[in-house]
This record gives sequence, C-alpha cells and structure tokens, in this order.
Amino acid sequence: MAFQAPKGVSEYVPPRSALFEQARDAFATSARRACYAYMETAVFEETALFVRGVGESSDVVTREMYSFQDRGGREITLRPEFTAGVLRCVLEHNLHKGALPVKVWTTGAAFRYERPQAGRYRQFYQFDLEAIGTEDPAVDAETIAVGWDAYASLGLRQYTLLVNSLGDKNCRPVYREALQKFLRGHFQDLDEETRRRIELNPLRVLDDKRPAVRDQLANAPVMADYLCADCKAHHDAVRDLLHALEIPFTDAPRLVRGLDYYTRTTFEFDHALLGAQSGIGGGGRYDGLSEDIGGPPLPGIGFAVGLDRIVLAIESERPGASAQPGTGCQVFGVPLGEDTHADVLTLITALRRAGVRADMSFGTRGLKGAMKAADRSGATFAALIGDQERSHDTVRMRDLVDGEQYDVPATDAAAWLIERLGTNP
Ligand code: AMP
Repeated sequence: MAFQAPKGVSEYVPPRSALFEQARDAFATSARRACYAYMETAVFEETALFVRGVGESSDVVTREMYSFQDRGGREITLRPEFTAGVLRCVLEHNLHKGALPVKVWTTGAAFRYERPQAGRYRQFYQFDLEAIGTEDPAVDAETIAVGWDAYASLGLRQYTLLVNSLGDKNCRPVYREALQKFLRGHFQDLDEETRRRIELNPLRVLDDKRPAVRDQLANAPVMADYLCADCKAHHDAVRDLLHALEIPFTDAPRLVRGLDYYTRTTFEFDHALLGAQSGIGGGGRYDGLSEDIGGPPLPGIGFAVGLDRIVLAIESERPGASAQPGTGCQVFGVPLGEDTHADVLTLITALRRAGVRADMSFGTRGLKGAMKAADRSGATFAALIGDQERSHDTVRMRDLVDGEQYDVPATDAAAWLIERLGTNP
C-alpha cells in the first residue's frame, strides 16, 4: 500500500481500541457523576488564541503548534490543548453569565509537533474537564477527585498525584524574580537554550530533566516560600480537602507545567511504569486566562489526561489486558445452508433490538468456516438456523464454551438469551 499515517499519529484499531474506549468512558462517567456537562468544541482555532492563552514563551507555542494559513488567509492552529478553546467557547456562548461555576468536559484529538516516541505523539487524545467561574478551593479538590476516581475505576493502582501552588499575579512575580536571580548566578555554563529560558520563562527551568541541571537546582528558591497570604490559605485549604477525600498526594514544590496560564493549584498524575513519558494527566487553576484572551475576570480550574498514556498504563499494569466484558459480541448467528441468511439476519436484528450484542456469519462460507467465525467472535452462544429450525420456527443455541445445544422457539430467543446473558445499555 502506498500510504501510511503521518509520522507520530496515534491510532487505535480493534481489539486494542476497546481499551481506549474504556479509558475515555471511565473519565466521562466520573465527570457526569460530578455533574459536568459535555461540550464539543473547535478542533482548530485562531492561532492568536493559543499564543495569548498558552503563552508566547511556552514550548507548545514556540515550536510545537500545527499552524497554517487557510485559503482565506486566516492564521489557524490545530488545538495543541483544550483549555484555551473551551474557555473561548464558554465566553462566546455566554455560559459564564448563567449559573457558576460552568462545569464542562470534552474529549478528542490534540496536536503537537513533538519528537515522537513511546507515549508521545503528534496527534494524541485527551479527556479534558474544566470548572469555570469560582475560586472556591473545594472545586480544586473536586476536579482532582474526578480524575483520581476515574483512574481508580480503570483498575489502575500505580499512579501518584503531585500537587503544588504557583501563586498568583501578586506573589508569583516576586518569586519569579528571586528564581531568576538564583538561576543567573548559577547557570553561566549552561547552553544557550537554558539561558534564554531563564530570561523568558524561568519557572520552566525547574522542569529540566537533565541530571546536571537538576543538581544545580537543589538549592533553588521554591514558590511555597513566596506564596502570599491568600494563595497560602487557598493552597492549605486544597490540601486539607484532599486529605478529607482520602486522596493521597505528594507536595511537589518544583512542579511547573508546560502551559503558561497556570496560577495557584497545579497538579500532575504520574504513572510508575511508563518511563520517560510518565505524565498521565495534569492541570490546575488559570485565574488570569480569561482576561488574557480578552474576556472578563473569571477564575477557572481544569485538567487534561492523555488517553494514549492511560491505555499504556493499563497495559503495563495488566499485561495482555483487553477491555472489560461488556463490549464484545454475545451471540453469533450461523445460517446452516444457503437460504437461511434472511432468517438469521431477522433473528439477530430482533436480538439487537432487545439489547443483545449480536453478529452473524456473512458470505457463503461453509458450516465449518461459519463456526470458526463464531468462535473467533468471542460470543457466548452461536444461534444456528437450518431448514429444520426454520420449519419448526426454532433456533438451535449452541453454548460455545461447553458445546451444549438447546432448541429454543424463535419467538423466545431474546428472552432466553437475556436470561443467560443480561442486557446492554
Ligand atoms: P498538558 O496538556 O501538556 O498539560 O498534558 C496533559 C496530558 O496530556 C499529559 O499528562 C499527557 O498524559 C498527555 N500528553 C501531552 N502531550 C502528549 C503527547 N505529545 N502525546 C501523548 N500524550 C500527551
């Protein structure tokens, strides 16, 4: 074949795609339980939204965006993250003029021109949740709990939560300056890139993973020592709430995140078995973002999780993991002979309408081929119809595990199966 997906595009095909669906559904379920409503937002936006929102000096904006001019000469960027677009959408549709906080979630592809490696892609998938319009620390704890519980519901155990506060527009500049002063004094020998970062975005230097840099950062000032009284009270409240919710976390005074809009509460979920790309989710407050993109003062908090990495995390904790039961085919129809295809299709359509997941053998394979397909489908029962069954108006149900066979009146087939298999939403 002449074509391949472009480099770095993450794709999911059966059977692995069932795990992806499961990961996404776990977060959707957790969000719905906390009364977050679904949104569908633009996949591409005006480039300026991300430049002003995510921040001119962030890696994402300086070198990772998929930006282009459309045929009308507009500067367009494929979303590299969700928060700026979700907030733009909330403001555009005036949701913030109704009841606050606006609590929403969405999911889909995001795009960053990164160097592809295991767990890092150019097209990847996020689940994103935002609570917009309140400074209440309880909503900080709520968002974290929604994430925490979703990972747990997937059966994951080896993840940890790191929490920090990045201060606000009052105390952060003071800290930024102190950090800059420290870094300028210590980092003369470093590469130009790091020196530039010290001037443009010194907090990001704290995120450098190189051991030589890490060593030199050991004595760097931390934000915790510079928090103003309000930020400190907020941070203490969030920490107390997490304790109350029995969500274990580690204080991470050097935790900063790649997007510039964060204020106050900042957090990250890490997975122990994923190596270099261990971040399975992260988020925080962005109390100044609305004003940055031309909106009214409107505090907010949210997080995004990397669904690709959650699939990898599930597979690393449960090698050979496949999706939990509840997605596979339950009954597989097998026409015995040439002319019972219509009867089988009629039967399985009735089963589907009754809530049973049913499939059938298509084409003209012989009985052997059809039974092989039934086995391969993972179904619990094969439903066979031949001339005899048709003339008696029955179906022969074969238990594909133990080989037992039962002749069931066609009209009772759905009830018979539901009694043994249950129904599906
Ligand atoms: P961020 O939007 O950078 O805060 O990232 C939130 C989450 O998205 C991270 O914790 C990762 O799980 C995931 N993520 C970010 N970038 C990528 C990428 N290039 N490939 C796969 N997952 C990613």
